[in-house]
Amino acid sequence: MIAHTPTLFACVALVATIMAFCLILVGQFNQRDGLLTIGCGLLAHALAYVGYTFYGHAPLWFTYGAANTLLAVALAFYGASVFRIVELPVSWWRVFAPAALMLLLMVGLIDTLEPRMLAATLVLMVQCALIIYWTRRYVPALGRARMLLIIGSSISLIGLGMRVVAVLGGGAAEMRYDVSNLKQTISVSIGTFTAMMISLGLVLLSKERSESLLRHMALRDVLTGILNRRAILDQFSTELERARRDGSCLAVAMVDIDHFKQINDRYGHLAGDEVICHCVNHLTRRLRQSDSIGRYGGEEFLLLLPGTDSEGAIAALDTLRASLAESPAYYGDSTISLRISIGVCCGVPDEGDTTASLLARADAALYEAKGLGRNTLRLAPPYFQPSEAPLSSA
Ligand code: GH3
Ligand code: MG
Ligand code: MG
Repeated sequence: MIAHTPTLFACVALVATIMAFCLILVGQFNQRDGLLTIGCGLLAHALAYVGYTFYGHAPLWFTYGAANTLLAVALAFYGASVFRIVELPVSWWRVFAPAALMLLLMVGLIDTLEPRMLAATLVLMVQCALIIYWTRRYVPALGRARMLLIIGSSISLIGLGMRVVAVLGGGAAEMRYDVSNLKQTISVSIGTFTAMMISLGLVLLSKERSESLLRHMALRDVLTGILNRRAILDQFSTELERARRDGSCLAVAMVDIDHFKQINDRYGHLAGDEVICHCVNHLTRRLRQSDSIGRYGGEEFLLLLPGTDSEGAIAALDTLRASLAESPAYYGDSTISLRISIGVCCGVPDEGDTTASLLARADAALYEAKGLGRNTLRLAPPYFQPSEAPLSSA
């Protein structure tokens, strides 16, 4: 089907205007989510297509020069949106340099046919390639928005490439904006389709970004950045289920900073916060990739060590305890020594073991460690055969 090219352009201009209006309307209330920048891109896109619609009926500087410059501005805004949404500083000169180049080329080549077509198309191709590059480099690999952006920009590159081939093959006259033929219909449709895909991809990216920030806030401890109580307990359920299914050992440790109240009282709460962070950094850096740590309470941490039997757990955790005792925290001019006590329970969980029952065992062992003078690790009796609890003290 061959569509009337100016009508196609007018339809795109209308749709882009509506989308731009909606995004600018809602984007102004929260400029950090990037919707306003996407809206500006769509507005420039719409204006570019208004220019194309009047090709042959209005001066060339408007219908070709200004229109292509506006399209380059639109792609620049889309590129800027990627940076905005992933909260990286926008390098405006880098993003808008191709649009400035487009303006210069249009001023210089407006009275030619093939050169101006080639120049405009090549600049737009560079911009699509840049959007692909920035998306691959800066957008996290997991999201669906990334896929949409890369596919949209890639199809756009192919469509623009077809224009270059047509012009180089002597078909420049066929590709003028006021001519209606199959090639032109396909080319404009590809451009339209990809513009929608890119703008929708950017909106989806903004949504994914907000969701991931919310998830982060819901699952992470504000002070230390490790899992919060709810998240570590969820992780605990998962690890318990896995250990039960595989018949493997799971070590569960409760860690508590000794006499932390005294640290707060002596150095102040901010120093106390620093000590908590220092402790978490120390523990996190020395745990294995498969281990988990979460902030269970104020200065209490829950550690999960999958596939670890009691010997392994004692060796690893007691080394942690001893090394932390040798590594003070610094706050201002103060050097603050800290000690931890650890209660740990290990074993292969069976049907009767729950997160609550294992936590109670680890907690009871921790309580014993405190009673034994602190700076100590205490092992709870194994789940499956009650016995005398061995003791490892400092
Ligand atoms: P023990 O050796 O028996 O564990 O004594 P402790 O002083 O460490 O134990 P206690 O549980 O009595 O004190 C914990 C203190 O931790 C009480 C609370 O004010 C403080 N705390 C809890 N959360 C935070 C926090 O985020 N920052 C700071 N600075 N202090 C906190
Ligand atoms: Mg304490
Ligand atoms: Mg405590």
